[in-house]
Amino acid sequence: MVSEADCLFCRIVAKEIPADVVHETERTLAFRDIDPKAPTHVLVIPKDHYRDAAALAAADHGLADEVIKAAHAVAEQEGVAGSGYRLVFNTGPEAGQTVFHVHGHVLGGRGLTWPPG
Ligand code: 5GP
Repeated sequence: MVSEADCLFCRIVAKEIPADVVHETERTLAFRDIDPKAPTHVLVIPKDHYRDAAALAAADHGLADEVIKAAHAVAEQEGVAGSGYRLVFNTGPEAGQTVFHVHGHVLGGRGLTWPPG
C-alpha cells in the first residue's frame, strides 16, 4: 500500500478517520463527502496515494480505469446513473483541489449547471 502519514484520505483508508463508505473494491474506496454540494456527493479514491489525477494516470492507468468504473458503480447504486451525474477531478490548487490524494467527485441528484464557477 502506497500511503502518506499526514494525508487525510490515506487516514480514511487506514480507518484512522471515520467515513461513510458506500462502495469498496480491492484497490478503491468511495465515501460520502463531509460537505455535500448535491443530493449525491461521493468521493472515489484509489487506496494508494497519488497526489492528483495526472499522477495517478502516469503511474497506473489501470488503477485510474478502476476509479472511473467505481465512480460509475456508485452512480448506479445511488440511482443517478440514468438521469446523469458529474464526475469531477479537481487537479491543482487553482482548480479548487484542497486534498492532495486524487479523488473523483460523483455529483448528482439535481440539475447541475455549466460552466462551473
Ligand atoms: P477538493 O476540493 O480537493 O476537490 O475536494 C475535497 C473534498 O473533500 C471536499 O469536497 C471536502 O468537503 C471533502 N472533505 C474534506 N475533509 C473531509 C473529511 O474529513 N471527510 C470527508 N468525507 N470528506 C472530506
